[in-house]
Amino acid sequence: MSASQSATRYLYDLADGDASMKPLLGGKGANVAEMMRLGVPVPDGFTVTTAACVEAMRRDSQWPEGLWEETLAALERLEDRTGRQLGSPERPLLVSVRSGAVVSMPGMMDTILNLGISDATVEALGAESDNPRFAWDSYRRFIQMYGEVVEGVPAHAYEDLITAMKRTRGVEEDTELDVPALQELVDQFKAVSREHMGEELPEAPRDQLRRAIDAVFRSWQNPRAAIYRKANGIPDDLGTAVNVMQMVFGNRGDTSATGVCFTRNPATGAKELYGEFLLNAQGEDVVAGIRTPRPLAEMKDLLPEAYEQLLDTMRRLEEHYGDMQDIEFTVDEGSLYLLQTRNGKRTAPAAFKVARDLVEEGVITREQALRRVEPAQLDQLLHPAIDPEHDQKPITKGLNASPGAAVGEIVFDSDTAERRGKAGDAVVLVRWETTPDDIGGTLVAQGVLTAHGGMTSHAAVVARGMGKPCVAGASELKIDAAARQLTIGDTVLTEGDVITLDGSTGEVYAGALELVPPQINEDFASVVGWADETRRMQVRANADTGEDAAKAREFGAQGIGLCRTEHMFMAEDRLPAVRRMILAKDEEERAAALETILPMQQQDFEAIFEAMSGLPVTIRLLDPPLHEFLPDLVEQALLVQRLEQQAGEASDSEELAEARLLLSQVKKLTEMNPMLGTRGVRLALLYPEIPQMQVRAIARAAFAVRQRGGEPLVEIMVPLVAYAEELRRMREIIEETLDEEFESSGERFDYTVGTMIELPRAAVVADQIAEHADFFSFGTNDLTQTGIGISRDDAEGSFLSAYVDSEVVAANPFSSIDVDGVGGLVRLGVEGGRRAKADLKLGVCGEHGGDPASIGLFESLGLDYVSCSPYRVPIARFSAARAVLDAREDDEE
Ligand code: ADP
Ligand code: MG
Ligand code: MG
Repeated sequence: MSASQSATRYLYDLADGDASMKPLLGGKGANVAEMMRLGVPVPDGFTVTTAACVEAMRRDSQWPEGLWEETLAALERLEDRTGRQLGSPERPLLVSVRSGAVVSMPGMMDTILNLGISDATVEALGAESDNPRFAWDSYRRFIQMYGEVVEGVPAHAYEDLITAMKRTRGVEEDTELDVPALQELVDQFKAVSREHMGEELPEAPRDQLRRAIDAVFRSWQNPRAAIYRKANGIPDDLGTAVNVMQMVFGNRGDTSATGVCFTRNPATGAKELYGEFLLNAQGEDVVAGIRTPRPLAEMKDLLPEAYEQLLDTMRRLEEHYGDMQDIEFTVDEGSLYLLQTRNGKRTAPAAFKVARDLVEEGVITREQALRRVEPAQLDQLLHPAIDPEHDQKPITKGLNASPGAAVGEIVFDSDTAERRGKAGDAVVLVRWETTPDDIGGTLVAQGVLTAHGGMTSHAAVVARGMGKPCVAGASELKIDAAARQLTIGDTVLTEGDVITLDGSTGEVYAGALELVPPQINEDFASVVGWADETRRMQVRANADTGEDAAKAREFGAQGIGLCRTEHMFMAEDRLPAVRRMILAKDEEERAAALETILPMQQQDFEAIFEAMSGLPVTIRLLDPPLHEFLPDLVEQALLVQRLEQQAGEASDSEELAEARLLLSQVKKLTEMNPMLGTRGVRLALLYPEIPQMQVRAIARAAFAVRQRGGEPLVEIMVPLVAYAEELRRMREIIEETLDEEFESSGERFDYTVGTMIELPRAAVVADQIAEHADFFSFGTNDLTQTGIGISRDDAEGSFLSAYVDSEVVAANPFSSIDVDGVGGLVRLGVEGGRRAKADLKLGVCGEHGGDPASIGLFESLGLDYVSCSPYRVPIARFSAARAVLDAREDDEE
């Protein structure tokens, strides 16, 4: 079917539709048509298409030319096929009018059942079914539904009358009202409808039908539906379809029933009977909770034939759709009818189990299984989560800096956290913000909560690296560390009080919530394993320690894409030596300090090379500005002031002299915009001793590991390059240093030298830079900062969240890559780089390397690998495969 044809047709008989026509027939209509095509029993009917709704919206609710005539013609065909007529006093046809958009969503018009019942037809219906009570009850329900849903009569107008009627008749339940009572109610309902509508309730079923269809069209525009669409990114111009179907009756006595079922257990994924039904009931009775429904298994004895047929149909539908189905059915005097089928919603563990089982049962292929789970569901299983069955309200919300949930007693300093954590207590470290000094406490805490700082704050970065839950920048949080107390609005919590963090949402709760543990089970492993068969890109990890590297390898990383050496400089036991190096008066002093750091760096590299033996390790030379390793300027100035006051006249104390020296150094090194200052390759060219020391440490580590039987694969990466000349010079330094090491040791190893592409200039002149590079690694975090011109820490807490809320931007560009802008820079870099060097290896090492949407872009740009934090490696493996499938699908279209 061509697109132009589909855009113009306003009406389809059910027999002419199929599942592929969802955009036109809506999900419900397309699936009912598909069932009819398969020979599954469904009530006959027709569908007014989304195209008709869209056209009506475009014309300010005026129906498009000819739509009503087409509807009447379709109705006539339906009347012919069923041998019944709408409004006929002999053989009346009753229909349901159901809305059905492409994606199911709340807020749309409720279904109207029993349309066609009227003063003229109610008697015939009663006689036909030999059940006048059923007929009159259906009538009063119809007026109620129709009046409420189509004409906007308030629900209570009818409910009040029912209550009054039950009182005067002296009965408790609706079901106890007899025929005369129901007849009287129908009259009262008509009168109250007239009162509210200011005119007679339309009595002619064709008028009702027209108004009901119109009400479905209009419900697309109602505020609730509009808000839902906005929240879920559903376009406003899709429109909804309207399904008109012959009624079948589950309420014709004890051989009739209505029910809902899933083809598998949607909570666990287990292949077992899952569903409920009610005898003698209609429509939503099962889910409305008026009567308690029975488990599906009991249908076996009560309605054996329909039951067998239902089980058989469930199997067929599941096989046909290749997915777990959520089904509505009705049994009308022993005959089974299906009223709806759709892919069933399920929990994350169920999604993996269903996907794996369907493959093992031979129902779907491994690639199809990759479409049965979503990246967010992987994320859920990788971390402990708050058990969703709770009714607690968060006391505050910060940034969702590192996923997973944590429960523990509040502690306000790292030492206490470390002490108590090591003793086996569950603690949550709460800080204004964290510093390198807090690492010990973070390591043993369940999670970290900070009042200040963004997604790249120290706490956030460290927590993500460790796979610990972290909520950062919870700005409502007031911490009084001296009183060991925190305040959020009216809530005051003291050290030792228990809190729960949800690092996946940023929410913070008082007290302990139930957690569910991570569920990396065989289902998970199988599905992610199948992704490896499909994906083209390699997946590496960002890791700075042997431990992280080992973890990353366990998660399936194929190397290290980014090893940040500065994290090694920050470690507590190294900081004094690093400071000596920075504060050195001359080259000699600096060389001496570097001598002490070298063996420490070497140790770090050895651990990483060992953990990643046989896989490539990209080591990035020192990147941040030096002042990051020094004390805070203000604090140091205060210290000097205090010492000056203490010293009085004796202003030449040694301590004071030292403090003053440090202060002057800090002042000298403090920059207005350190992010754009003396860092990365700029720092290395200014102080070549630093990269020389690092390269020596790399070489010696590689030799040591090789000696022990390991196979180190060395890639050295230069950060923050803007000019080709910078890289040319750095490469010279690296090569010379390595040659020296090779000479003195008498052995050598193969290595590559590459650069980060994280500045717009570098992307633009990528061809020039590529002359001196064996590989590029796109540092998309900094490329986002420098490309858009925003500082992440300043942006996320303020205008950027406002931008996201008010839709200036579709998403936070630090979480999901800005495809047009920053993605465009990456594209430039790829094209330039490959133009100069066809076999240039290309990767990404920003946080976007672990973001499913961004991975789609990297696949389309033809990158060789993505690199992300160890805990995101399975998500990246999976998303890289999905990106391949998506690209293939786009090709086919
Ligand atoms: P929803 O989208 O809210 O599930 P539906 O259109 O599926 O609404 O209908 C509401 C209820 O009415 C469901 O239980 C459905 O099975 C039932 N129903 C809809 N059409 C018919 C029909 N033609 N005959 C009998 N029951 C129907
Ligand atoms: Mg339904
Ligand atoms: Mg960077």
